[in-house]
Amino acid sequence: ALAADDYLKLFEPCWEPGQPVPYSFLANAFETMAGTSGRIDLTRQLACVLFHVLNRTPVDLLPTIYLVINRLAPAHEGLEIGVGDALLLQALADATGRSLSKLREDYHRTGDLGDVAVHSRTTQRTMFAVPRLTIRNVYNELLAIARASGKAMQEEKRRRIQKLLVAAKNNEAKFIARALQGRLRIRLAEKTVILALAAAFVQNAAASRGTHPDAARVERAAHLLRTSSNECPSWNMITEALLELQDIDERLLERCHLTPGLPVMPMLAKPSRSIAEVLTRFEGMRFTCEYKYDGERAQIHGLADGSIRIYSRNAEDHTRKYPDVMEQILQAVGSSSDQPSFILDSEVVAFDRDAQRILPFQYIQQRARKHVSLDDLKTNVLIVAFDILYWRGEPLTRKPLAERRAILRDAFQEVPGGFRFATRRDVSDLDGIQKFMEEAVRDSCEGLMVKALEGPLSTYEPANRTQHWLKLKKDYLRTIGDTLDLVPIGAYYGRGKRTGWFGSFLLACYNPETEQFEAVTRVGTGFSEEQMAQLHSEYAQYVLDSPRPYVACSESVKPDIWLDPRQVWEVQCADLSISPAYVAACGYIAPDKGISVRFPRLLRIRSDKRPEDATTSAQLAEMYRNQFRSTESSSESSSSA
Ligand code: ATP
Repeated sequence: ALAADDYLKLFEPCWEPGQPVPYSFLANAFETMAGTSGRIDLTRQLACVLFHVLNRTPVDLLPTIYLVINRLAPAHEGLEIGVGDALLLQALADATGRSLSKLREDYHRTGDLGDVAVHSRTTQRTMFAVPRLTIRNVYNELLAIARASGKAMQEEKRRRIQKLLVAAKNNEAKFIARALQGRLRIRLAEKTVILALAAAFVQNAAASRGTHPDAARVERAAHLLRTSSNECPSWNMITEALLELQDIDERLLERCHLTPGLPVMPMLAKPSRSIAEVLTRFEGMRFTCEYKYDGERAQIHGLADGSIRIYSRNAEDHTRKYPDVMEQILQAVGSSSDQPSFILDSEVVAFDRDAQRILPFQYIQQRARKHVSLDDLKTNVLIVAFDILYWRGEPLTRKPLAERRAILRDAFQEVPGGFRFATRRDVSDLDGIQKFMEEAVRDSCEGLMVKALEGPLSTYEPANRTQHWLKLKKDYLRTIGDTLDLVPIGAYYGRGKRTGWFGSFLLACYNPETEQFEAVTRVGTGFSEEQMAQLHSEYAQYVLDSPRPYVACSESVKPDIWLDPRQVWEVQCADLSISPAYVAACGYIAPDKGISVRFPRLLRIRSDKRPEDATTSAQLAEMYRNQFRSTESSSESSSSA
């Protein structure tokens, strides 16, 4: 679908080559994309946009990519694009001359600030004709808004937003308002962007040679682009390399690969429901079991200048949260005179040094996120290293786990109470795994991680959830295999002891295909009274008059009040069932029916996950199906675990 060049006619370029790309070109394309449902059509539309920008004004390619993915910089820089509704409404009132109350009314009615912005005609007179917006100045303004700091920050943001909205023509205001809210609502998943960009480059290279691209070339280019963006998650570096190379080939991997200081999205595991299932999945393969520690994931980077950086599961910079980890890692890497560069994958757990015991996850969670000083620490932490991705200038992700593990053990040394290697055992029979699981639980772990050890499937796959890392959690062997990460989107008033508070919450999973939060269950257990009171006051600021437009819920389970989808709650459940009332994963298993969760119970709040990291509709459907897979010896294998 992307090889023939007919898609290049979908949007006609409206500027001279070399000139800045007008923002209207992108806004018009967004408008069409917002009304497109098919993934192939969306990809063709985006490929067309990217091709024309690349072909005519390549310097605008990077800001175009950022505006399309609605981000401003690589994740670890922590630049958030979103501004609050109140500020946006105020800026809109200033830009249009409309009253705040009228704007609020429209917003409540339509549920979309983008639509409100576009229908609020500018009445403000400007002394001079305002120049048309271009892609690069919209991007630069958004960047300045995100970076604004200091006492006058709110005022500066408001002024800049107002300026953008005054200059916006036609539908431009819609996508500026939506970008500022942090949601474009055009369903452009990362994989679509990668495929479209690959197609644009292949097309451009073919055009300059006077040839036609073929589908296999586009696929190959997309694969290379995906690999390098997983290993080097910086569109700045990738775009710079692509523009220099003018094509996508193996040279891209040489230019954009794993780099200390640039966090990669970690490899993730699939849930597993029984030891028998593990044995089936790894049949004919060498695999290994490791303790599954219950703490916080930490990707620890050692830079060539000797400095250390610590990144969370979401590539957030946690270096200042863990000054103690920094000290311990320096001891563990030894006192060699040179400064080896490295990237470690590890779990940081709270640790009682007197009792030599791992403490529950909550101890870690209590720690402040930033500016933690060594003198204020209340809990000791232990780094448990389980993988190494980079050592002394060499990326290791494509080496088998057995080899990476040998390098890890050679390069680092254990520090009592500070740094250790994940406890592992290369067992391969049911009894052996079961015994190891019992030991893991006794040693305060959540269960086991089972990983392919040798062969092409034992490489480290950044950002991927694969079958070659399985998690086997002690409590879920006989149920759905895992807990769920769900987002509160509404609440019901309480009765009895909970009168005056919320009694239960409506939770949703996330569907990245539609960019919607889909109602999945109602949870009222697992909360202490104290926690209920705390949630009640904390959530007061997130109460909405109407649901966000990206929330899906049927009338029959409508909550008493709607909440802004902000947090992720880890929920345990008995099983999954088909439900006519809940819309989660609707159509995945049964037409017109969703999936719901039975007997949900709140386990904890996952502050290390964003709402978009919640369990997806596709994962829910997969777990639903797995419930019915035959697991011959599952009950036998789990009974004593
Ligand atoms: P997911 O990462 O699958 O979205 P999650 O963050 O909720 O889910 P779990 O499902 O509990 O985490 O399991 C995966 C996590 O287990 C890893 O992200 C890592 O933080 C942790 N972990 C603990 N021990 C290990 C280990 N030995 N190997 C890999 N990961 C481990």
